[in-house]
Amino acid sequence: MTGGGGFIGSHLCISLLKKNLEIIVLDSFINSNKKSLKRVYEISIVNNKNALPIKITKGDIRNIEEIDCLFSQSIKEGNPIEAVFHFAGLKSVRESILNPLEYWDVNVNGSINLLKTMDKYHCKTIVFSSSATIYGLSKNCLLHEDSAINPNNPYGKTKLTVENLLYDLHKKNPDKWRIANLRYFNPIGAHPSGLIGEEPKGVPNNIFPYICKVAAGIYKELKIYGDDWQTKDGTGVRDYIHVLDLADGHLAALDYLLKSKPQIINLNLGTGKETSVLELVNTFQKVNNIFIPYKITKKRVGDLPYLVANNSNAIKYLNWCPTRSLNEMCEDGWRWQMLNPNGY
Ligand code: NAD
Ligand code: UDP
Repeated sequence: MTGGGGFIGSHLCISLLKKNLEIIVLDSFINSNKKSLKRVYEISIVNNKNALPIKITKGDIRNIEEIDCLFSQSIKEGNPIEAVFHFAGLKSVRESILNPLEYWDVNVNGSINLLKTMDKYHCKTIVFSSSATIYGLSKNCLLHEDSAINPNNPYGKTKLTVENLLYDLHKKNPDKWRIANLRYFNPIGAHPSGLIGEEPKGVPNNIFPYICKVAAGIYKELKIYGDDWQTKDGTGVRDYIHVLDLADGHLAALDYLLKSKPQIINLNLGTGKETSVLELVNTFQKVNNIFIPYKITKKRVGDLPYLVANNSNAIKYLNWCPTRSLNEMCEDGWRWQMLNPNGY
């Protein structure tokens, strides 16, 4: 697993350890903390005494030797890597506009290194962390995997480029590659234990960690980026999904790939439910009984008014369905923030 120390990867590790799967994590920890994986193990061992320790390597996917070393080592140990979850990457839309070279380097060159190495060692099963950001303006319709693709920022372009590259790889060897491009909508929340969660470095760009920090008194107020969008209440509409439902979607995707014939499949991972910024803020206030001061400000550059998934393909192919409510997302996310005011 690349980027396994991060927000989504760490939650997936819990699902994998429950299944007694062996995990090797390669992470530079540029946007995460090794403690997340220590806590994953602590959570896992409580219910499963046989949970295998996670093998952790600090390294950068831009360094192909580091990736190569993990694959060759796994073969030497007689336990070759069978599949890769590829989470490692940079994920801020705003930063990608400010620093496109860094984003293309990590997200695209890093992925090329990983894919070259997988090809070399005949490991041809990959679940890739793509994003709903690759879709274009949707006129407030649910986004289907075949909806218009038109990323409007460098981050989204790097994700699309990797999807295109995976498509070309599959085309060259259609009877070998098993590829799932999982297009995430907006993962929020945290593990209900409050032991692991999202820990953005610096000021959060995403709304949910920002709300948590306003609730904790770290920031004075939330800025709501525009209330005159063509949406139900004028604020931006998104499809928030509990990070544990997202993690379960990964396990289901791996199961599906291993059971099916080689293929490439694009799948939206979202709940299909529309939530405006104001609805999110109101739910957070209500379930946590806490006041979130906010003010309406101008729109954010590169924002889209409406991004909500048609998730019918994921439900159909993966035998998966998100089950956790927006209330649970808000409760679990706030618990993580309260128990870890300074992060890990
Ligand atoms: P995250 O930042 O918490 O996790 C990414 C991990 O990758 C971090 O642990 C980071 O240290 C690591 N990393 C970054 N650059 C690296 C490099 N060069 N070499 C090795 N490791 C590196 O982010 P996340 O929210 O867990 O997201 C995981 C993936 O999902 C990312 O690729 C992201 O683009 C994608 N994604 C996330 C969201 C979201 O809202 N969280 C939405 C859509 C897609
Ligand atoms: N948003 C906001 N204030 C913030 C951050 C985000 O009003 O401080 C809005 C943003 O305009 C969008 C929604 O919240 O409508 C989700 O934004 P986020 O950055 O979390 O996710 P993304 O835009 O990548 O889907």
